[in-house]
Amino acid sequence: MSTTQQRIAFITGANRGIGLETAKHLGALGIKVIVGARDNAKGAEAVAQLQAAGADAEYLHYDAAQPNSPQEVAATLLYRFGKLDILINNAGILKETLIGQNNTLSVDQDTLKTTFEANFFAVVSLTQALLPLLQKSDAGRIVNLSSILGSQTLHSTPDSPIDVAKGLAYNASKTALNMFTIHLAHALKDSRIKVNSAHPGWVKTELGGDNAPMEISDSWKTSVRLATLDDNGPTGGYFHEDQPLPW
Ligand code: NDP
Repeated sequence: MSTTQQRIAFITGANRGIGLETAKHLGALGIKVIVGARDNAKGAEAVAQLQAAGADAEYLHYDAAQPNSPQEVAATLLYRFGKLDILINNAGILKETLIGQNNTLSVDQDTLKTTFEANFFAVVSLTQALLPLLQKSDAGRIVNLSSILGSQTLHSTPDSPIDVAKGLAYNASKTALNMFTIHLAHALKDSRIKVNSAHPGWVKTELGGDNAPMEISDSWKTSVRLATLDDNGPTGGYFHEDQPLPW
């Protein structure tokens, strides 16, 4: 085991989309980025892109659907660096395609379970496995990629501002993730670790779709801000860029 002064960030689902863009910007700050990806070739390609942009980047296999993956990641990070400074729980899935419709009466159990496995269960499991390493950091930061679609407040009236995507599985998985953020922040209140939920914006990615107004190149801001908060920064919050969102 070796320890390093350089800050180390592990980002899940960092081979494309918001995760890769976030990795680029953390890399530009001199932070070592460990690209978590489930596909070796895609992970290697992302690392090559990051290195070409001048970032210090490596690939580490991570698959949210594999129960052993968190322990394997933890063991490798412990052996290589002896600590972790930033965990960005970015990997996520949206299986529902009924954008613009409320699928509550028809959504099937497989969609609910698969979505919760990737967007909630896996995040809890990985975070638990990596907490001992984050506790070795001077300033551990955990960012959970939630969504404004996880906000109960913004869904709770008939004239809700959220009327574009009513996929029960995805939205409820992000609400559950937000509750994890709150619980974890309470559990870690006497530590140096800060944990927050992020809504990156509605972004033109494979998940966000072509109609999204935000380009990938602008999608990193919320994650990077929360990953690099100073000691006076918030914990147990829910943000888009620097704006708090209602739970
Ligand atoms: P993308 O679909 O572009 O990328 C998703 C990433 O997650 C990919 O790297 C994908 O890997 C990875 N992933 C999916 N399943 C697994 C798994 N089982 N194990 C490991 N990695 C996995 O999504 P975005 O970049 O748009 O989204 C990133 C996060 O931001 C998600 O959590 C999403 O819910 C959230 N978000 C996105 C918004 C948007 O408008 N795009 C809005 C609000 C929140 P692979 O390439 O192998 O499939």
